[in-house]
Amino acid sequence: MIFHKRTFPRIHVLCIGLLGILTTVIPHPARAQSTHVSPWAPTELGPLPPIAPITNGVWLKGDLHVHSRHSKESSNNPIAKIISFSLSVGMDYVCITDHDNHVEGDVAHNTWADPEFKSDSLLLLYGAEWTTTRGHGNVFSARPYDHQRLYDVRDQRDIVIGAIVKELGIHLSANHPSGKDHFGYSYDMVRSIEVWNSAIWSRNANAIMIWDDMLSSGRKLTGRGGSDAHHGTPETPDKATKNSYQAKANYVGTPTTWVFATARTPQAVVDALTNGRVSVSANPFAPRVEFYADLDRDGKMDMMMGDNAKANGKPVTFRVQLSGNTVPGATYTVKVVKNGDDFDSLKITGGNTPFVEFTDTPATLGRTYYRVTVEGPPTPYPQVPGSMALSGNMVGLSNPIYFNFDPNF
Ligand SMILES: [Zn+2]
Ligand SMILES: [Zn+2]
Repeated sequence: MIFHKRTFPRIHVLCIGLLGILTTVIPHPARAQSTHVSPWAPTELGPLPPIAPITNGVWLKGDLHVHSRHSKESSNNPIAKIISFSLSVGMDYVCITDHDNHVEGDVAHNTWADPEFKSDSLLLLYGAEWTTTRGHGNVFSARPYDHQRLYDVRDQRDIVIGAIVKELGIHLSANHPSGKDHFGYSYDMVRSIEVWNSAIWSRNANAIMIWDDMLSSGRKLTGRGGSDAHHGTPETPDKATKNSYQAKANYVGTPTTWVFATARTPQAVVDALTNGRVSVSANPFAPRVEFYADLDRDGKMDMMMGDNAKANGKPVTFRVQLSGNTVPGATYTVKVVKNGDDFDSLKITGGNTPFVEFTDTPATLGRTYYRVTVEGPPTPYPQVPGSMALSGNMVGLSNPIYFNFDPNF
């Protein structure tokens, strides 16, 4: 076609009429191109791995982004303080993610070698914040790994970095993906993304947008939270710094990331993160968002957020449940997002483990995902009293329920 619609719209219309006649006799060159078949086009998937039992596990809560005194710009935040605070608010796990650039990648002889880095009751993940020119990412690992190898390749091509991530067997996660120190690497290297950084929920809109784009492109990427807290409460007034006020507004648990783990072990926490059985709440006492689907509509839920099933063309019933402390009688608004677009808005009335259901039929060919966010009355967090105003009405968010996502992507 010589004439382009955008430059010659009227002539184009005439041409179509003429072409309609001509193409009955003369093959149009564009026809030859239309035989192209993309080898990447959606096709019928083979059988997917079975869905793990949805009752066989334990909900564990924690924070995946905290800085101790081993990060140069933090203040009044020794590891022992982080651990004892975490336990005091009922946390099950924490990953202390100090910046690695202050110690040239040698996290093993700093954060992890600190005599305070131990606990009988709090699960401590091994990790660090990969702090590079192209942005920040957190590593989550159940055991020590050679972080210096990751630090060494920080400025290399993504293909080099991806190979190291694979060799180390670590879960790499994109931090605060938009704005300053955005994650400037390929998302093919990461298993999760920080969709909720710090108590200031309103700052996360672009992170959510990036998450939806990655999900829509077929990447099964877990959304998680992280307070990114750097500053603890000073022991005595003379130890206060200009940033000490932050300890009362953003600290461990703002937000809180819940994982449905098969056991109370660091490995099970990392596995749950990778698998996406995860939701994020404004603080440790806020309701936990649980998101389930009933595939055969027998009234019994068959899968939960993070799970991936084949769509069979039949309607599916979805359930959004709030566990923990809801305000009796208060209204919670559930926003359902389907494939990156607003799909539905539902109401839940606070009470004893309230829930709401909706129904939809996922497409049999191609991918579909659903995720939810819940807004409602803020839950008091007396230990970090300034956080409530910063989180506003944001209560929590779920990870997606997936249909027809290719596990070999
Ligand atoms: Zn950072
Ligand atoms: Zn950080």
